[in-house]
This record gives sequence, C-alpha cells and structure tokens, in this order.
Amino acid sequence: MIVVKVGGSAGIDYGAVCADLAALWEEGRRFVLVHGGSGETNRVAEALGHPPRFVTSPSGYTSRFTDRETLEIFEMVYCGKVNKGLVERFQRLGVNAVGLSGLDGRIFEGRHKDSVRAVENGKVKVLRGDHTGTVERVNVGLVTLLLDAGYLPVLNPPAVSYGGVAINVDGDRAAAALAAALGAEALLLLSNVPGLLRAFPDEASLIRQIPADDVEGYLEFAQDRMKKKVLGAAEAVRGGVGRVVLGDARAERPVSAALAGAGTVVS
Ligand code: ADP
Repeated sequence: MIVVKVGGSAGIDYGAVCADLAALWEEGRRFVLVHGGSGETNRVAEALGHPPRFVTSPSGYTSRFTDRETLEIFEMVYCGKVNKGLVERFQRLGVNAVGLSGLDGRIFEGRHKDSVRAVENGKVKVLRGDHTGTVERVNVGLVTLLLDAGYLPVLNPPAVSYGGVAINVDGDRAAAALAAALGAEALLLLSNVPGLLRAFPDEASLIRQIPADDVEGYLEFAQDRMKKKVLGAAEAVRGGVGRVVLGDARAERPVSAALAGAGTVVS
C-alpha cells in the first residue's frame, strides 16, 4: 500500500500523475491519493473578491488564515473542482475512483484551532475565527473498505473537528497520518520541485537521502510550505512508514520515478 500526495502548486501535471497511477493500478499496485489545491484556491478566492491571507507563526510556519468564507471557497475548489477533476481523469482511464474529503465519514479528524498566533509588522498578534487544525485520527476502516471493494480513494482536506466542524488541515501532514495509520510501505509527497533543495531554488542542490532518525535536522533547508513536507516526512517514518519520497510531480511518470528513488528519499 502506497499513499501518494500531490500538491496544488503551479506546474504540477495532474494528467501525468493520474496516467501513471492508473497504469500501476492496472498492474495490481494499490494506492490512496491525497491532493492539494492551493494555487487554484488562491485564484478562485481572488476572483470572488476574498483574497487569501497567509500568516506566519512566530516559529516561521506559513499557513492560510481560514475564516468561514475562506473555508467555503476552499471546499468549492478542493472538494469540487480539483477532486472531481481527478476522479473524472481516473474514470476516463478506467479506474473506479471515489473522491471524499476528510469530513466524509470522518476520514481525517482533529482538534479545531480557533485562533492563531501570527507575526505581522514585527509584532505577534492573536487572530481569532480560524478554521484550522491538525489531523490526529484517521478512519482507516472506511479507506480500507473502499480499497478492498476495488475503489481508488481520492482524498482531500478539510478534516472534521471532534465537534463536527470543518477544519483546514495541511495535506502533507494528513497524508503522513494516513500512511502511518494504513501501515503504508511508502509515502510519496509530489510537488513542483525535484525534492528538498539545500539551496532553494537551485535544483542542482537536491538532497538525495535523509536518514530516518534525523529528518528534523533537515528542516533548516526548507522555507515556508516546504517545512510542512519535511515535518510530514518525519511524522510518517516515526509512525512506521518504510520510506518517504519528496518527488517531482512535473516529471513524465512522476509516481514511478519517485518509487524508483528520484527525489529526496527519507528512510
Ligand atoms: P504543494 O502545493 O505542491 O504541496 P507547496 O507549495 O506547499 O507544494 O510546497 C512546495 C514549495 O516549497 C516549492 O514550490 C518551493 O517554492 C518551496 N520551497 C521552500 N524551500 C524549499 C526547499 N529547500 N526545497 C524545495 N522547495 C522549497
């Protein structure tokens, strides 16, 4: 069992990811796909007159401030356009995919964090009304029910809080929690870079191997959202996942390439 997370940044080739997954599925390999949609969410939010607001925590992590309106736009894009677009691609390729969010059947569950500490103009402020959180529990039963019945699950944030509220969660870390809960042999985090770069954006500075017991030691090379991927990789290997690959979703056969070790391999 392999969990594949494909991001939502510019340059990602969803067609290549789906075609590669469909070919491997046909050979009998089993996958769960988790996807992002941040680039498209930003575009739709701008078009609807509610531009995205990104905040940086005092420890340097960047996240989307998710008020109720942002959450609804996020759901339109993630659960609607992107998820159904991927499911449609799989259907065209002859793979019976089922698209669900973390809300559906409580697939991704976590605590709702209503306020966030953010650095703005050099000062730390507390912003309230945030609909975010972190995945703490995964409904593995529902995911395996689908897999055992022959369906390819295509999953996305939001998650659901213990109180039943939709919360925006990081997709990489949700995929890491899922991979750990499923006892996956590998987790592939595919994005629009070749992997973790020692000197971003110099693609020649690719870090090819990270030892499983020192993933956090590599956090210093990751800026902004890449930090979440490194953190997700650390959580997955700590949770028993055999191998995490930070790979390139712009490649021709991006899943096969990552499985063959292209990218940054954490093991
Ligand atoms: P996705 O939406 O595909 O999951 P993100 O945009 O969240 O991807 O994260 C990937 C981005 O992280 C890259 O496009 C790049 O701009 C940024 N990044 C920051 N530091 C690094 C680094 N050291 N190596 C690679 N990418 C990095």
